[in-house]
Amino acid sequence: MFEYAPAPESRDIVDLKSSYGLFINGEFVDGSGKPFKTVNPATEEKLAEVATASSDDVDRAVQAARKAFGAWSGLPGAERAKYLFRIARIIQERARELAVLESLDNGKPIRESRDVDLPLVAAHFFYYAGWADKLGYAGFGRRTTDGHSGANPRPLGVAGQVIPWNFPLLMLAWKIAPALACGNTVVLKPAETTPLTALLFAEICQQADLPPGVVNIVTGAGETGAAVVAHPDVNKVAFTGSTEVGRVIARTVAGTDKKLTLELGGKAANIVFEDAALDQAVEGIVNGIFFNQGHVCCAGSRLLVQESIQDELLTALKRRLSTLRLGDPLDKNTDIGAINSAEQLAKIRQLSDLGESEGAERWSPACELPAKGYWFPPTLFTGVAQSHAIAREEIFGPVLSVLTFRTPAEAVEKANNTPYGLSAGIWTEKGSRILWMADKLRAGVVWANTFNRFDPTSPFGGYKESGYGREGGLLGLEAYLDV
Ligand code: NDP
Repeated sequence: MFEYAPAPESRDIVDLKSSYGLFINGEFVDGSGKPFKTVNPATEEKLAEVATASSDDVDRAVQAARKAFGAWSGLPGAERAKYLFRIARIIQERARELAVLESLDNGKPIRESRDVDLPLVAAHFFYYAGWADKLGYAGFGRRTTDGHSGANPRPLGVAGQVIPWNFPLLMLAWKIAPALACGNTVVLKPAETTPLTALLFAEICQQADLPPGVVNIVTGAGETGAAVVAHPDVNKVAFTGSTEVGRVIARTVAGTDKKLTLELGGKAANIVFEDAALDQAVEGIVNGIFFNQGHVCCAGSRLLVQESIQDELLTALKRRLSTLRLGDPLDKNTDIGAINSAEQLAKIRQLSDLGESEGAERWSPACELPAKGYWFPPTLFTGVAQSHAIAREEIFGPVLSVLTFRTPAEAVEKANNTPYGLSAGIWTEKGSRILWMADKLRAGVVWANTFNRFDPTSPFGGYKESGYGREGGLLGLEAYLDV
């Protein structure tokens, strides 16, 4: 492996404040709950104190959103689009600042926040800005003889949105951009461990002169999220996170007329056939499970490899894993950053230990972990049986479970043998096999000879316990419209 001198991105570009308030009705205000601290998971250094929104604060935010809804939804789509385009451009202008802040608060490598998250965040705002004045032509509702929709579909009202910590700003973009384009107003709760880029986004809303109340950001823990979801004046709930909390939210919303989309966990199969281009597949496997420390709901956490190439593939994969650089997330050479929190690290450790005690064989490359912060080495398990917890449960860390198969039919059966159904990957030279497999895999997204590719035009979402509803593309608009 080449040795590289450290190439740290400067954090001077970020103006970190010692404390942050809630963003309600276009202003930063105090929260009435007990403030919490957010830390840099790579160093455990406290970054800032952040306000906690009580249920009264959430109520104020919902009222502000309700008040703003009339004027915002009444604007011509082209006017709403101007704000969204403006926000998209400011995000591009301030991309470096946002990327550094994201890496500081989340622990993800700057290469990923800079080259993946931020471009996608801007792309989402550009994409949905483009739709804001074309909703009547998006194919929803009754069609007239000239092929146009009979009436403009209507927005739903106030959207309550709760997002996780793995892609803090990107999940915000997936939620806020389509909601606003359709004429809704929002109250968004970021995850407790990663609130800072959402609060910088609030500043961007001010900079873009977005009318007060159209976007409200309430920080806090799970109770704040629960208050957003349960608020009687919220018309639409959008949640990304664990299946467990998704269930709680579905119960809260049941019996109300709130519209709900849930984007939950996954345990995706990444399936490699013997005719696949192996070096390419190795890159795809690495990207599938070690991108963002494996904190990815659609991560390819189960590698299904055809038995005939198991040894060859694992040798190549181990060689490749030995070249991954783990360390300072702000270093531009870093491939694997920090685990987002002590709790998540404990969960990864517990499930990995369970894998070993259930009889799977654990392997990690030689890799020195920093003394401070939350770290876990890239890990793979061989000899994994379908009954093992590491083959069934979402680990949400840099841990790959390797299983084998002999025939395509067996691959399909094993891939679908999961309560989840968010994504899958297929590696083969044969186009006909890709189509045959894609047709049979119960997964919302199926990648062929690639993995973890995202695009705002492409809908994303799951089957079974991975949730319901779609985000992205035209279907992502539908989730925010009364059609
Ligand atoms: P959660 O599902 O608990 O968190 C997601 C968001 O929901 C956070 O903003 C959280 O707030 C909030 N929340 C928590 N409880 C409630 C509630 N009762 N009502 C409304 N909102 C609530 O995920 P965790 O962060 O606890 O992670 C646990 C596990 O979930 C991970 O180990 C991973 O397996 C999985 N996960 C899956 C994700 C995915 O995209 N599929 C994303 C994140 C996690 P707060 O941050 O304060 O807890």
